[in-house]
Amino acid sequence: MIRNVTVLGSTGSIGCSTLDVIGRHPDRYRAFALTAASSATKMAEQVLQHQPLYAVMLNPSAAVELQALLPADCPTTVLSGADAIAEVAAHVDVDMVMAAIVGAAGLIPTLAAARTGKRVLLANKEALVMAGPLFMAAVRDGGAELLPIDSEHNAIFQSMPASYQGDFGQHGIRKILLTASGGPFRGWTAEQLQDVTPAQAVAHPNWSMGQKISVDSATLMNKGLELIEACFLFNCQPDDIQVVVHRQSVIHSMVQYCDGSVIAQLGQPDMRTPIAYGLAWPQRIDAGVKNLDLFEIARFDFETVDDATFPALTLARRAFAVGDTMPAVMNAANEIAVEAFLQEQIGFNRIPSLVAQVMDSHTPRVIHQLDDVLEADDWARQQARQYLHSSVNEVGL
Ligand code: NAD
Ligand code: MG
Repeated sequence: MIRNVTVLGSTGSIGCSTLDVIGRHPDRYRAFALTAASSATKMAEQVLQHQPLYAVMLNPSAAVELQALLPADCPTTVLSGADAIAEVAAHVDVDMVMAAIVGAAGLIPTLAAARTGKRVLLANKEALVMAGPLFMAAVRDGGAELLPIDSEHNAIFQSMPASYQGDFGQHGIRKILLTASGGPFRGWTAEQLQDVTPAQAVAHPNWSMGQKISVDSATLMNKGLELIEACFLFNCQPDDIQVVVHRQSVIHSMVQYCDGSVIAQLGQPDMRTPIAYGLAWPQRIDAGVKNLDLFEIARFDFETVDDATFPALTLARRAFAVGDTMPAVMNAANEIAVEAFLQEQIGFNRIPSLVAQVMDSHTPRVIHQLDDVLEADDWARQQARQYLHSSVNEVGL
């Protein structure tokens, strides 16, 4: 049976890797709908190759551009807007949804996929961080299957017992060992970080990824988001998770058991491995990834995190401990800070300090419904912009 897949964020790094895996298995998967924000040229290429039923652009003018790039007899229906993106995620004929939109924008369509009982392949960690309890409830109530695609969480999933139902004690689990490459500035001092450029920050030593997650990896906010992501996915607390810097990015994470065993998943730093795992689970399919050569790697190094120089992980622990709307606020402030850094409006060290400033001024509210999350997200963005504006003015004076 061929399974229909909607790829949210198909023109991005994860989206392209997903289409690469799907393209290797036409007998198993079909790209049902592809969605993107504004890159019409890339989308046109993907439409011609994969012939989805729908191609949706967030931006209406990009949809017009896309339509003009497609031949008149192209069977793909071109749509536009955020509502249409959520509709193709929840479409009755869809079996699986790859959630690979970057940032908070992915929340609504990913939630729509969960509520309608799809297999959700979750790359968009920000959606889970913002709305963890709401999202996990939607997965349960909608009868969805949630498969983590983030390489660490995919590794943890693979290293957990197949019957794991959210209780460490029942399975003799002591700890999750969440690995981190340390990013491009591992070992640097706060002083050295002051003058780093966006180009330096997005040049990750091991992984090729979108700009936002690359900056998050450099600040270690990516690990902070992943810590919260793991707490929601595996129903545990930050104290159950130890972050281990492992610069080779070959061990993608581990689970430690009470009998002294540690089970790890190893692989190339290539997202097609977790993507293929999520698509085929519980089976395995070829992902187009070259075999791991342990002699080529030769050694594994492990270090602790320098929390003083990279405060993002501490912020994430605090956000999760406070709970309610605080993780959403942390995430939104970080998105604004990363954008400002990429536009060279602020320095690298200002990213975590701006996030901390916004978190300090937030009074958390209980999340009852999606609107509570969206309001907190909106509030944090406005607050972050306001602080940015006043600090830019101060510098100007
Ligand atoms: P990317 O920037 O390369 O791609 C983002 C995609 O989302 C693009 O297709 C873009 O058009 C679309 N998009 C952006 N803004 C949108 C909006 N407002 N509405 C609708 N669509 C929008 O990002 P990426 O690196 O592929 O990351 C995607 C997600 O996967 C992120 O949440 C990231 O944290 C997560 N992730 C990525 C990697 C990786 O290796 N790239 C690894 C683990 C997790
Ligand atoms: Mg990751």
